Amino acid sequence: MSLEHVKMSFDEMWNKIMECDRSYDGLFYTAVKSTKIFCRPSCRSRKPKKVNVTFYETISECVEAGYRACKRCQPEIEHCPQIDLVRRAAGYMVNHLNEKIVLQDIAEHIGVSPFYLERLFKEEMKETPREYLEKIRIHKAAFLLKDSQKTNLEICFEVGFRSPSNFYKAFRRVENCSPSHYRKSLRIKES
Ligand SMILES: [Zn+2]
Repeated sequence: MSLEHVKMSFDEMWNKIMECDRSYDGLFYTAVKSTKIFCRPSCRSRKPKKVNVTFYETISECVEAGYRACKRCQPEIEHCPQIDLVRRAAGYMVNHLNEKIVLQDIAEHIGVSPFYLERLFKEEMKETPREYLEKIRIHKAAFLLKDSQKTNLEICFEVGFRSPSNFYKAFRRVENCSPSHYRKSLRIKES
């Protein structure tokens, strides 16, 4: 079974590679036209120019398009059945983050027991599926604060929180500030 098509925009993926965020490894690959190399999102090599970047969802797409694996981040060596399970769980959460998801749903989707999934996920990602889900919801919220005119409350519901107070608490845990402060600080940086 392959990964679901990952529902992220070009700019969201671009943000991830700028942040070298390991949380999205395996969900997409960065192919760089000028070097003909493809990388994991978390690669710490010098960042390409935006115009040279194409995102692919699978390694075989990169290879078919004529790209070689980066020697530094080695995207091709992470393939093993356990890691693929973790990637599929992560991909499922990325695509369904605006819905109410419990561990059981994710486990059923990839066909393993919740207990096994939780253990495997924690081993590979160093956090539980629940912590991961909260983090990617907040990443999405941060992206929307930057990229849209939506209000805090609209964003709160759009990224899957059911209560604003949980949203504010989680936002502060991940970003160390309030959503409003986050948006304001971006405006200051840009002006
Ligand atoms: Zn790389």
